[in-house]
Amino acid sequence: MTTARSTVLVTGGAGYIGSHLCVELLQAGFQVIVVDNLCNARYKSLDAVERITQKPLTFVEADIRDESALTRIFRTNDIDAVIHFAGLKAVGESTEQPALYYDNNINGTLKLIEAMQQSACRTLVFSSSATVYRSPPELPLTEDSPTGPSNPYGRSKLMIEEILRDLSAADPDWRISALRYFNPVGAHPSGEIGEDPAGPPNNLMPFISQVAVGRRTKLHIFGNDYDTHDGTGVRDYIHVVDLARGHLKALDYLAEHCGMTVHNLGTGNGYSVLDAVRAFEAASGVTIPYEVVERRPGDTAASYADVGRARDELGWCAEYDLEAMCADAWRWQSRHPEGFGVGGEDE
Ligand code: NAD
Ligand code: UDP
Repeated sequence: MTTARSTVLVTGGAGYIGSHLCVELLQAGFQVIVVDNLCNARYKSLDAVERITQKPLTFVEADIRDESALTRIFRTNDIDAVIHFAGLKAVGESTEQPALYYDNNINGTLKLIEAMQQSACRTLVFSSSATVYRSPPELPLTEDSPTGPSNPYGRSKLMIEEILRDLSAADPDWRISALRYFNPVGAHPSGEIGEDPAGPPNNLMPFISQVAVGRRTKLHIFGNDYDTHDGTGVRDYIHVVDLARGHLKALDYLAEHCGMTVHNLGTGNGYSVLDAVRAFEAASGVTIPYEVVERRPGDTAASYADVGRARDELGWCAEYDLEAMCADAWRWQSRHPEGFGVGGEDE
């Protein structure tokens, strides 16, 4: 049973969403242990989490596929719940290196489950994704919409959901929440943590931010001939702080419910690429040069969530609008033009 003084293990907690969750957990009074191999994050993010909250957390640098490291974490701590972010997430890379993605994401999750089974901890919140849905989607996407991911990354997420469903069917003590994120963007309003992609960003918002701050010359808009209100792709962008708070609501829910649940976390609103460009320009005061190029292979015209189940069951709704998402993303990017990378190596 998790309460506000419980200990939560956050896998992948040094990353973009994980670091924002750590802030919310610490501020709510939880004890936080992060396990992260830093393959796509820097320890500086957790330093910043401690600065924002003025509270300490415990960090273990380890790969979740390292059985002995995980066993040690569960033996030496009384862990009440696990929030599982650790995974690789680049769609294009997953197509080029599927085995790497299946090993890291699925095998990593299996090792985590094994370590949890050896302990008394049976409460797990899993980072799933709207990429599990079939394309083209029926809109808005409900949790019962047909699944059918089109790439190895999405398939790894769906396979993990299925593994977790089997687990909860076999042992009714499990309490599992799979949260299907739509498009997390923005940054903590302090401007101290935010998204810091390695290399050229694959996603729209970090790309726009890097154009605004002068790291890239222009945005390429992938197609303006979609059947959407202005021809550019429509997505359900959600502020990362809202998303993080959804996890706390999921923990509350699991404290009262056994079994496995699936919830969409989005706002329910669809914005186009041009809407996002204009909102970012208004928030930053910077003009974003862009060029319309070919559609990106595999892209869908529009995707947005039906958020009714999260509202009704978790009592959760997104609060921040697109303007706040852009203002917070810009505060982070303009204060940290090179992300966490300034100064080279981690201290
Ligand atoms: P991120 O890359 O910033 O965070 C993932 C973290 O996991 C990183 O800190 C990385 O170092 C760590 N990690 C990866 N493999 C690991 C392993 N084997 N052992 C230990 N640590 C490991 O990504 P994010 O945007 O914060 O995403 C968090 C989770 O949410 C991921 O599982 C991702 O698939 C999922 N998700 C993200 C989005 C998105 O758009 N950001 C959308 C849907 C779902
Ligand atoms: N997009 C774009 N240029 C970019 C990155 C993305 O035009 O450099 C578009 C993309 O085609 C989609 C939307 O922005 O319509 C959101 O893309 P993102 O990769 O952020 O999210 P996803 O498509 O994975 O939901």
